[in-house]
Amino acid sequence: MLGYVRKNISEVEYHTWFAPVKNLGVKEGSLVLGVRNSFAQEWFRKHYLELLEDALRSLGAQNPQVSFQVLPASQDTLFSPADPPPPPSRPPPSAPGGPSAQDQAENRKRLNPKYTFENFVVGPNNNLAHAAAMGVAESPGKAYNPLFIYGDVGLGKTHLMHAVGHYMSERFPDKRIEYVSTESFTNDLINAIRDDKMTQFRNRYRSVDLLLVDDIQFLAGKERTQEEFFHTFNALYENHKQIILSSDRPPKDIQTLEGRLRSRFEWGLITDIQSPEYETRVAILKMNAEHNRIDIPQEVLELIARQVTKNIRELEGALMRVVAFSSLNNVPFSRAVAAKALSNVFAPQEVKVEMIDVLRQVAAHYNMPPDVIRGAGRVREVVVPRQVAQYLIRDLTDHSLPEIGQFFGKDHSTIMHGINKVTEQLGKDQEVTASVELLRRKMQGLDEDDF
Ligand code: ADP
Ligand code: MG
Repeated sequence: MLGYVRKNISEVEYHTWFAPVKNLGVKEGSLVLGVRNSFAQEWFRKHYLELLEDALRSLGAQNPQVSFQVLPASQDTLFSPADPPPPPSRPPPSAPGGPSAQDQAENRKRLNPKYTFENFVVGPNNNLAHAAAMGVAESPGKAYNPLFIYGDVGLGKTHLMHAVGHYMSERFPDKRIEYVSTESFTNDLINAIRDDKMTQFRNRYRSVDLLLVDDIQFLAGKERTQEEFFHTFNALYENHKQIILSSDRPPKDIQTLEGRLRSRFEWGLITDIQSPEYETRVAILKMNAEHNRIDIPQEVLELIARQVTKNIRELEGALMRVVAFSSLNNVPFSRAVAAKALSNVFAPQEVKVEMIDVLRQVAAHYNMPPDVIRGAGRVREVVVPRQVAQYLIRDLTDHSLPEIGQFFGKDHSTIMHGINKVTEQLGKDQEVTASVELLRRKMQGLDEDDF
């Protein structure tokens, strides 16, 4: 039952939605699922009803029925462990003369199915590495050899390498692809030496068309492994086989790496991946949410993207936290919920607010297009929201008066005037006071009404 479900959705989706569910019983084609709250119940109805019915059909049910029951908190347990794991998918039959189905299955097994070019968001931080990887995937062994990708942890090096692997195995199904971490390469070597199987070891690594070696910085200080890798490299290079290496630093900064290896690493193209910019982070979150069928407002994604800036793995983790938090507490997604969910990880004062957010919130509050508020109109209906926005920006962001002026297309003395106007009205004009306080709480993620 669960095996069928698991095969048809992503791991994250499975863990987010199915792991916490309790199977209350399947009988004659009808299934009762225990869910944590009505939010989860709605979610299952909306997104997984068909999948669950298909699963029942796969068990032979003619007229599958799925119903849900919201469990009291204490019964909130995992699916019974008796449920068998998904059966391994059968490898496809091989084409005549092509690689054995086994080979292809082996290739795919080592590649994460999620790490494809389609799932890779391109931004200014990674576009060169992405273009180089595409180039290599299109003409392996011809474009750049080796391709050396470096960058900090969690920025997509492994993802890009696997993407080349997927691309090649689709376009050139008869090519042999080997993905290996430097650690496994080292362990394989140690085992081969111990078991007297060096011939097999060499055959394995020297007969491939594409060799992907991850985290090559771990070669540092391992002389015997460097020696063996040197010969592997040469054998492949001479036969115009593609090599892609990743590292957390450029070759020149890998200490105790033999000179002859270092210079080989520099023969091809060296390219780096940097931390993603805000827009790229939002795009990555958006893609992730869509993939995992999470219907989450843009402004919540923006809040997450502002909090997690360095590492994409953490960015994905933060999204999952927010999803889990809102599902557990049975509350819809909002900025306030997201701020709460992330508050254990990030101190609340770290909630960063951008000028554009303030403008958007103010616009929504006054039910007016942001551009009108930012525009030149002088009627009171527009001037008050504009001054409130200027006041809140000054209050909640670190921007200077000239910067705020630039944002509004005004000089800094006009902004100062606007801020003074609001300051004067606070405590006197009830409408302005209430609006400012409400908006401030909202943007600091403190608004309990959002729950
Ligand atoms: P690294 O190997 O550099 O440590 P990974 O390739 O393991 O990083 O990436 C970490 C996570 O971030 C993975 O889940 C990966 O899919 C995701 N990721 C990284 N870069 C991107 C990107 N440009 N678009 C979408 N997801 C990305
Ligand atoms: Mg990696």
